[in-house]
Amino acid sequence: MKVKELEKIFKDTDFVHMSGSREEKEVAEYLRDRCKDMGVKASLESFEVEMSKMEDFILTCDGKEIMCEAFNCCGSGEVTGEVYYMPATDPVSIAGAKDKIVLMDTSGIGYFAYQDLVKAGAKAILFRYGNVYHRNDDIDVRDLRAAVVGESKKLLCAMINSRDAIKLVKAGNKTVTLKVKQEEYKGKSHNVVATIEGQRDEYIVLTAHYDTTSLSHGAYDNMTGCATLLHIMEKFAKKKPNYGLKFVFCGSEERGLLGSKAFVKKHEKELEKFALNVNIDMVGSIMGKFLACVSAEDKLAHYISYMGAELGFPVATKTGVYSSDSTPFADAGVPALSFARMAAGDVASFHSRYDTMALLSMKQLLADSEFVVKFVERMANSACIPVSREIPENVKKELDEYLFRKRRK
Ligand SMILES: [Zn+2]
Repeated sequence: MKVKELEKIFKDTDFVHMSGSREEKEVAEYLRDRCKDMGVKASLESFEVEMSKMEDFILTCDGKEIMCEAFNCCGSGEVTGEVYYMPATDPVSIAGAKDKIVLMDTSGIGYFAYQDLVKAGAKAILFRYGNVYHRNDDIDVRDLRAAVVGESKKLLCAMINSRDAIKLVKAGNKTVTLKVKQEEYKGKSHNVVATIEGQRDEYIVLTAHYDTTSLSHGAYDNMTGCATLLHIMEKFAKKKPNYGLKFVFCGSEERGLLGSKAFVKKHEKELEKFALNVNIDMVGSIMGKFLACVSAEDKLAHYISYMGAELGFPVATKTGVYSSDSTPFADAGVPALSFARMAAGDVASFHSRYDTMALLSMKQLLADSEFVVKFVERMANSACIPVSREIPENVKKELDEYLFRKRRK
Protein backbone atom coordinates (compact mmCIF):
# COMPACT_ATOMS: atom_id res chain seq x y z
CA MET A 1 0.00 0.00 0.00
CA LYS A 2 1.22 3.50 -0.75
CA VAL A 3 1.53 6.29 1.82
CA LYS A 4 -1.34 8.22 0.18
CA GLU A 5 -3.66 5.20 0.39
CA LEU A 6 -2.72 4.61 4.01
CA GLU A 7 -3.35 8.24 4.89
CA LYS A 8 -6.78 8.07 3.30
CA ILE A 9 -7.82 5.24 5.65
CA PHE A 10 -7.10 7.51 8.63
CA LYS A 11 -8.85 10.49 7.11
CA ASP A 12 -11.92 8.43 6.26
CA THR A 13 -12.26 7.13 9.82
CA ASP A 14 -11.28 10.31 11.68
CA PHE A 15 -14.14 10.38 14.20
CA VAL A 16 -15.14 8.71 17.47
CA HIS A 17 -16.53 5.21 16.82
CA MET A 18 -17.39 3.54 20.11
CA SER A 19 -18.64 0.03 20.70
CA GLY A 20 -22.28 -0.45 19.73
CA SER A 21 -22.67 2.98 18.11
CA ARG A 22 -23.87 3.91 14.62
CA GLU A 23 -20.36 5.24 13.94
CA GLU A 24 -18.79 1.92 14.89
CA LYS A 25 -20.99 0.19 12.32
CA GLU A 26 -20.08 2.84 9.77
CA VAL A 27 -16.39 1.99 10.19
CA ALA A 28 -17.18 -1.75 10.02
CA GLU A 29 -18.90 -1.17 6.66
CA TYR A 30 -16.01 0.98 5.52
CA LEU A 31 -13.49 -1.81 6.28
CA ARG A 32 -15.74 -4.37 4.58
CA ASP A 33 -15.80 -2.19 1.46
CA ARG A 34 -11.98 -1.79 1.50
CA CYS A 35 -11.69 -5.60 1.48
CA LYS A 36 -14.12 -5.77 -1.45
CA ASP A 37 -12.05 -3.17 -3.33
CA MET A 38 -9.21 -5.71 -3.24
CA GLY A 39 -11.47 -8.45 -4.51
CA VAL A 40 -11.73 -10.16 -1.13
CA LYS A 41 -15.25 -10.93 0.05
CA ALA A 42 -16.00 -9.72 3.56
CA SER A 43 -19.03 -9.75 5.78
CA LEU A 44 -20.21 -8.37 9.09
CA GLU A 45 -20.85 -10.76 11.96
CA SER A 46 -22.93 -9.12 14.65
CA PHE A 47 -22.88 -9.85 18.37
CA GLU A 48 -24.80 -8.51 21.32
CA VAL A 49 -23.41 -5.80 23.60
CA GLU A 50 -24.88 -4.13 26.69
CA MET A 51 -25.83 -0.55 25.92
CA SER A 52 -27.34 2.34 27.80
CA LYS A 53 -29.21 5.48 27.01
CA MET A 54 -28.14 7.95 29.68
CA GLU A 55 -31.08 10.12 30.70
CA ASP A 56 -29.72 12.07 33.60
CA PHE A 57 -26.87 12.09 36.09
CA ILE A 58 -25.42 14.50 38.62
CA LEU A 59 -22.73 14.44 41.28
CA THR A 60 -22.97 17.11 43.97
CA CYS A 61 -20.90 18.14 46.96
CA ASP A 62 -21.94 20.92 49.40
CA GLY A 63 -24.72 21.86 47.01
CA LYS A 64 -22.29 22.33 44.12
CA GLU A 65 -22.07 20.16 41.03
CA ILE A 66 -18.89 18.23 40.28
CA MET A 67 -18.50 17.54 36.60
CA CYS A 68 -18.74 13.81 35.92
CA GLU A 69 -19.70 11.09 33.47
CA ALA A 70 -21.83 8.32 34.91
CA PHE A 71 -20.86 4.82 33.79
CA ASN A 72 -23.07 3.17 31.23
CA CYS A 73 -24.81 0.01 32.46
CA CYS A 74 -24.18 0.68 36.19
CA GLY A 75 -27.89 0.92 37.01
CA SER A 76 -29.98 3.87 38.16
CA GLY A 77 -30.62 5.39 41.56
CA GLU A 78 -29.38 7.91 44.11
CA VAL A 79 -26.80 7.50 46.87
CA THR A 80 -25.30 9.86 49.42
CA GLY A 81 -22.19 9.07 51.37
CA GLU A 82 -18.83 10.16 52.59
CA VAL A 83 -15.99 10.03 50.08
CA TYR A 84 -13.36 7.40 50.88
CA TYR A 85 -10.18 7.72 48.86
CA MET A 86 -8.89 4.21 48.15
CA PRO A 87 -5.69 4.20 46.09
CA ALA A 88 -5.09 0.46 46.55
CA THR A 89 -7.28 -2.63 46.71
CA ASP A 90 -5.60 -4.64 49.49
CA PRO A 91 -7.82 -6.03 52.30
CA VAL A 92 -6.92 -3.19 54.71
CA SER A 93 -7.98 -0.58 52.14
CA ILE A 94 -11.16 -2.50 51.28
CA ALA A 95 -12.14 -2.71 54.99
CA GLY A 96 -12.54 1.07 55.08
CA ALA A 97 -15.11 1.11 52.25
CA LYS A 98 -18.21 0.24 54.29
CA ASP A 99 -21.07 2.67 53.61
CA LYS A 100 -18.70 4.94 51.70
CA ILE A 101 -18.55 6.37 48.23
CA VAL A 102 -15.19 5.05 47.16
CA LEU A 103 -12.86 7.21 45.09
CA MET A 104 -10.34 5.08 43.24
CA ASP A 105 -7.09 6.20 41.72
CA THR A 106 -7.88 4.51 38.41
CA SER A 107 -10.31 4.89 35.53
CA GLY A 108 -11.66 1.36 35.82
CA ILE A 109 -11.94 -1.67 38.05
CA GLY A 110 -11.34 -5.41 37.78
CA TYR A 111 -13.57 -8.27 38.89
CA PHE A 112 -12.00 -9.04 42.28
CA ALA A 113 -11.71 -5.44 43.51
CA TYR A 114 -15.34 -4.84 42.50
CA GLN A 115 -16.56 -8.00 44.26
CA ASP A 116 -14.59 -7.02 47.38
CA LEU A 117 -16.15 -3.55 47.40
CA VAL A 118 -19.68 -4.93 47.07
CA LYS A 119 -19.04 -7.36 49.94
CA ALA A 120 -17.50 -4.62 52.07
CA GLY A 121 -20.69 -2.57 51.66
CA ALA A 122 -19.47 0.31 49.48
CA LYS A 123 -22.29 2.57 48.26
CA ALA A 124 -20.88 3.75 44.94
CA ILE A 125 -17.56 4.13 43.13
CA LEU A 126 -15.93 7.23 41.66
CA PHE A 127 -13.01 6.98 39.24
CA ARG A 128 -10.71 9.61 37.83
CA TYR A 129 -9.65 10.39 34.28
CA GLY A 130 -7.26 12.84 32.68
CA ASN A 131 -3.85 14.37 33.10
CA VAL A 132 -3.95 17.35 35.50
CA TYR A 133 -1.47 19.20 33.30
CA HIS A 134 -3.65 19.04 30.18
CA ARG A 135 -5.70 22.14 29.63
CA ASN A 136 -8.97 20.34 28.93
CA ASP A 137 -11.49 18.88 31.36
CA ASP A 138 -12.11 15.73 29.36
CA ILE A 139 -13.83 12.85 31.09
CA ASP A 140 -13.95 9.49 29.36
CA VAL A 141 -17.26 7.64 29.24
CA ARG A 142 -16.87 4.08 30.44
CA ASP A 143 -19.21 1.25 31.25
CA LEU A 144 -19.53 -1.13 34.16
CA ARG A 145 -18.57 -4.38 32.48
CA ALA A 146 -20.70 -7.50 32.84
CA ALA A 147 -17.48 -9.49 33.41
CA VAL A 148 -16.70 -7.26 36.42
CA VAL A 149 -20.20 -7.33 37.97
CA GLY A 150 -20.61 -11.10 37.57
CA GLU A 151 -23.40 -12.31 39.85
CA SER A 152 -23.16 -9.30 42.17
CA LYS A 153 -25.36 -6.25 42.35
CA LYS A 154 -24.53 -3.11 40.41
CA LEU A 155 -23.03 -0.13 42.21
CA LEU A 156 -23.48 3.33 40.74
CA CYS A 157 -20.22 4.44 39.15
CA ALA A 158 -19.03 7.76 37.79
CA MET A 159 -15.83 9.20 36.38
CA ILE A 160 -14.60 12.61 37.46
CA ASN A 161 -11.71 14.67 36.17
CA SER A 162 -8.39 14.11 37.96
CA ARG A 163 -8.33 17.79 38.97
CA ASP A 164 -11.62 17.37 40.87
CA ALA A 165 -10.40 14.09 42.35
CA ILE A 166 -7.43 15.92 43.86
CA LYS A 167 -9.73 18.63 45.24
CA LEU A 168 -11.98 16.02 46.87
CA VAL A 169 -9.09 14.16 48.48
CA LYS A 170 -7.53 17.41 49.67
CA ALA A 171 -10.83 18.58 51.21
CA GLY A 172 -11.12 15.24 53.07
CA ASN A 173 -14.24 13.37 54.25
CA LYS A 174 -16.67 15.30 52.06
CA THR A 175 -20.19 13.98 51.63
CA VAL A 176 -21.34 13.66 48.03
CA THR A 177 -24.53 12.62 46.28
CA LEU A 178 -24.59 10.71 43.02
CA LYS A 179 -27.79 10.40 41.01
CA VAL A 180 -28.00 8.35 37.81
CA LYS A 181 -30.94 7.61 35.53
CA GLN A 182 -30.37 5.46 32.48
CA GLU A 183 -32.17 3.00 30.28
CA GLU A 184 -30.15 -0.16 29.64
CA TYR A 185 -30.72 -2.30 26.58
CA LYS A 186 -29.05 -4.85 24.31
CA GLY A 187 -27.28 -3.39 21.29
CA LYS A 188 -25.18 -4.72 18.45
CA SER A 189 -21.51 -4.55 17.59
CA HIS A 190 -19.81 -6.18 14.60
CA ASN A 191 -16.73 -8.09 13.52
CA VAL A 192 -15.72 -7.77 9.88
CA VAL A 193 -14.55 -11.13 8.57
CA ALA A 194 -12.76 -11.77 5.26
CA THR A 195 -11.04 -14.92 4.02
CA ILE A 196 -8.28 -15.69 1.53
CA GLU A 197 -8.34 -19.44 0.95
CA GLY A 198 -5.10 -21.41 1.06
CA GLN A 199 -4.06 -24.84 -0.23
CA ARG A 200 -4.90 -26.41 3.12
CA ASP A 201 -8.16 -26.14 4.99
CA GLU A 202 -6.36 -24.43 7.86
CA TYR A 203 -5.94 -20.77 8.65
CA ILE A 204 -3.89 -18.07 10.21
CA VAL A 205 -6.32 -15.64 11.83
CA LEU A 206 -5.24 -12.01 11.62
CA THR A 207 -7.01 -9.67 14.03
CA ALA A 208 -7.09 -5.93 14.77
CA HIS A 209 -9.81 -4.00 16.56
CA TYR A 210 -11.34 -0.93 15.00
CA ASP A 211 -13.54 0.49 17.79
CA THR A 212 -12.50 3.50 19.87
CA THR A 213 -13.11 4.85 23.35
CA SER A 214 -15.45 7.81 23.94
CA LEU A 215 -13.04 10.67 23.22
CA SER A 216 -10.61 9.06 20.81
CA HIS A 217 -10.62 9.06 17.02
CA GLY A 218 -8.55 5.89 17.29
CA ALA A 219 -5.82 6.58 14.75
CA TYR A 220 -3.02 4.92 16.73
CA ASP A 221 -5.38 2.70 18.75
CA ASN A 222 -6.18 1.03 16.45
CA MET A 223 -6.73 2.09 12.86
CA THR A 224 -3.00 1.42 12.52
CA GLY A 225 -3.70 -2.28 13.19
CA CYS A 226 -6.58 -2.28 10.70
CA ALA A 227 -4.41 -0.57 8.06
CA THR A 228 -1.76 -3.26 8.64
CA LEU A 229 -4.37 -5.97 8.05
CA LEU A 230 -5.42 -4.27 4.80
CA HIS A 231 -1.78 -3.99 3.77
CA ILE A 232 -1.33 -7.74 4.35
CA MET A 233 -4.56 -8.47 2.50
CA GLU A 234 -3.34 -6.55 -0.53
CA LYS A 235 -0.14 -8.63 -0.59
CA PHE A 236 -2.05 -11.92 -0.53
CA ALA A 237 -5.26 -11.01 -2.40
CA LYS A 238 -4.20 -12.67 -5.64
CA LYS A 239 -2.18 -15.49 -4.09
CA LYS A 240 -3.03 -18.87 -2.69
CA PRO A 241 -0.70 -19.48 0.26
CA ASN A 242 -0.34 -22.90 1.83
CA TYR A 243 -2.40 -21.84 4.87
CA GLY A 244 -5.49 -19.70 4.34
CA LEU A 245 -5.74 -16.25 5.90
CA LYS A 246 -8.74 -15.09 7.88
CA PHE A 247 -8.92 -11.38 8.57
CA VAL A 248 -11.02 -10.29 11.53
CA PHE A 249 -11.52 -6.59 12.21
CA CYS A 250 -12.89 -6.75 15.74
CA GLY A 251 -15.52 -4.49 17.27
CA SER A 252 -15.84 -3.63 20.98
CA GLU A 253 -12.28 -4.48 22.00
CA GLU A 254 -12.17 -1.45 24.25
CA ARG A 255 -14.94 -2.85 26.43
CA GLY A 256 -13.15 -6.06 27.30
CA LEU A 257 -12.24 -7.82 24.02
CA LEU A 258 -15.92 -8.43 23.28
CA GLY A 259 -15.46 -8.82 19.50
CA SER A 260 -12.69 -11.41 19.62
CA LYS A 261 -14.50 -13.26 22.42
CA ALA A 262 -17.65 -13.35 20.25
CA PHE A 263 -15.66 -14.53 17.22
CA VAL A 264 -14.00 -17.37 19.14
CA LYS A 265 -17.36 -18.42 20.57
CA LYS A 266 -19.17 -18.29 17.22
CA HIS A 267 -16.42 -20.25 15.46
CA GLU A 268 -15.85 -22.74 18.27
CA LYS A 269 -16.19 -25.73 15.93
CA GLU A 270 -13.58 -24.35 13.51
CA LEU A 271 -10.97 -23.56 16.18
CA GLU A 272 -8.93 -26.65 15.42
CA LYS A 273 -8.47 -25.28 11.89
CA PHE A 274 -6.95 -22.08 13.27
CA ALA A 275 -3.23 -22.73 13.44
CA LEU A 276 -2.20 -19.30 14.69
CA ASN A 277 -3.63 -15.91 15.62
CA VAL A 278 -1.63 -12.79 14.77
CA ASN A 279 -3.08 -9.65 16.37
CA ILE A 280 -1.99 -6.08 15.71
CA ASP A 281 -2.85 -3.38 18.23
CA MET A 282 -1.16 0.01 17.83
CA VAL A 283 1.77 0.28 15.43
CA GLY A 284 3.26 3.04 13.27
CA SER A 285 3.77 5.63 16.00
CA ILE A 286 6.54 8.18 15.46
CA MET A 287 8.12 7.24 18.78
CA GLY A 288 8.20 3.92 20.57
CA LYS A 289 9.61 0.44 20.28
CA PHE A 290 8.27 -2.53 18.39
CA LEU A 291 7.31 -5.55 20.42
CA ALA A 292 5.83 -8.99 20.05
CA CYS A 293 4.03 -10.61 22.96
CA VAL A 294 3.63 -14.32 22.34
CA SER A 295 0.87 -16.32 24.05
CA ALA A 296 2.34 -19.62 22.91
CA GLU A 297 5.56 -21.57 23.27
CA ASP A 298 8.80 -19.62 23.87
CA LYS A 299 10.21 -20.90 20.59
CA LEU A 300 7.90 -18.58 18.66
CA ALA A 301 9.20 -15.55 20.58
CA HIS A 302 12.76 -16.65 19.79
CA TYR A 303 11.86 -17.15 16.15
CA ILE A 304 10.50 -13.58 15.91
CA SER A 305 13.58 -12.10 17.54
CA TYR A 306 15.83 -14.09 15.15
CA MET A 307 13.71 -12.83 12.27
CA GLY A 308 14.18 -9.27 13.49
CA ALA A 309 17.94 -9.80 13.52
CA GLU A 310 17.86 -11.36 10.06
CA LEU A 311 15.89 -8.43 8.62
CA GLY A 312 17.56 -5.67 10.63
CA PHE A 313 14.26 -4.77 12.34
CA PRO A 314 14.54 -4.32 16.12
CA VAL A 315 11.82 -6.20 17.98
CA ALA A 316 11.50 -6.88 21.70
CA THR A 317 9.83 -10.22 22.33
CA LYS A 318 8.31 -11.81 25.39
CA THR A 319 5.95 -14.60 26.30
CA GLY A 320 2.78 -13.81 28.18
CA VAL A 321 -0.69 -12.35 27.87
CA TYR A 322 -1.33 -9.15 25.96
CA SER A 323 -4.33 -6.98 26.78
CA SER A 324 -5.84 -7.25 23.32
CA ASP A 325 -7.70 -9.54 20.92
CA SER A 326 -5.02 -12.26 20.89
CA THR A 327 -6.10 -13.25 24.40
CA PRO A 328 -9.43 -15.02 23.66
CA PHE A 329 -7.64 -17.09 21.00
CA ALA A 330 -4.88 -18.17 23.38
CA ASP A 331 -7.52 -18.95 25.97
CA ALA A 332 -9.27 -21.22 23.46
CA GLY A 333 -5.98 -23.07 22.82
CA VAL A 334 -5.01 -21.29 19.59
CA PRO A 335 -1.36 -20.14 19.67
CA ALA A 336 -1.54 -16.34 19.49
CA LEU A 337 0.60 -13.25 19.50
CA SER A 338 0.24 -9.48 19.43
CA PHE A 339 2.46 -7.02 17.62
CA ALA A 340 2.62 -3.39 18.78
CA ARG A 341 4.84 -0.34 18.63
CA MET A 342 4.57 0.94 22.17
CA ALA A 343 5.32 4.58 22.83
CA ALA A 344 5.45 6.27 26.23
CA GLY A 345 2.12 7.87 27.17
CA ASP A 346 3.55 11.38 27.20
CA VAL A 347 4.57 11.22 23.54
CA ALA A 348 1.72 9.13 22.14
CA SER A 349 -1.43 9.28 24.21
CA PHE A 350 -4.35 6.95 23.48
CA HIS A 351 -7.88 6.50 24.87
CA SER A 352 -7.98 10.30 24.70
CA ARG A 353 -8.66 13.16 22.29
CA TYR A 354 -4.94 13.18 21.49
CA ASP A 355 -5.01 9.89 19.60
CA THR A 356 -4.94 11.32 16.09
CA MET A 357 -2.82 10.96 12.97
CA ALA A 358 -0.39 13.49 14.48
CA LEU A 359 1.08 10.63 16.54
CA LEU A 360 1.82 8.56 13.47
CA SER A 361 4.46 8.18 10.82
CA MET A 362 3.16 6.57 7.64
CA LYS A 363 6.72 5.54 6.85
CA GLN A 364 7.00 3.76 10.20
CA LEU A 365 3.56 2.22 9.71
CA LEU A 366 4.70 0.81 6.36
CA ALA A 367 7.91 -0.55 7.90
CA ASP A 368 5.97 -2.15 10.78
CA SER A 369 3.41 -3.61 8.36
CA GLU A 370 6.16 -5.00 6.14
CA PHE A 371 7.70 -6.83 9.09
CA VAL A 372 4.32 -8.39 9.90
CA VAL A 373 3.89 -9.29 6.20
CA LYS A 374 7.22 -11.11 6.22
CA PHE A 375 6.29 -13.02 9.36
CA VAL A 376 2.87 -13.96 7.96
CA GLU A 377 4.42 -14.98 4.62
CA ARG A 378 6.80 -17.36 6.38
CA MET A 379 4.04 -18.88 8.47
CA ALA A 380 1.39 -19.05 5.73
CA ASN A 381 3.78 -20.68 3.26
CA SER A 382 5.40 -23.05 5.72
CA ALA A 383 4.97 -26.73 4.85
CA CYS A 384 3.56 -27.10 8.32
CA ILE A 385 3.21 -24.30 10.88
CA PRO A 386 5.90 -25.15 13.43
CA VAL A 387 4.18 -23.59 16.47
CA SER A 388 3.01 -26.17 18.98
CA ARG A 389 -0.70 -26.01 19.91
CA GLU A 390 0.22 -26.44 23.55
CA ILE A 391 -0.25 -23.22 25.57
CA PRO A 392 2.52 -23.19 28.23
CA GLU A 393 1.61 -23.31 31.92
CA ASN A 394 2.96 -19.82 32.70
CA VAL A 395 0.74 -18.35 29.94
CA LYS A 396 -2.27 -20.32 31.21
CA LYS A 397 -1.68 -18.88 34.68
CA GLU A 398 -1.57 -15.35 33.28
CA LEU A 399 -4.76 -16.05 31.31
CA ASP A 400 -6.52 -17.16 34.51
CA GLU A 401 -5.56 -13.89 36.16
CA TYR A 402 -6.29 -11.66 33.18
CA LEU A 403 -9.70 -13.24 32.63
CA PHE A 404 -10.60 -12.98 36.34
CA ARG A 405 -10.63 -16.69 37.08
CA LYS A 406 -7.90 -16.32 39.70
CA ARG A 407 -6.71 -13.47 41.83
CA ARG A 408 -3.44 -11.91 40.82
CA LYS A 409 -0.90 -12.64 43.53
ZN1 LIG B 1 -6.37 -1.03 21.28
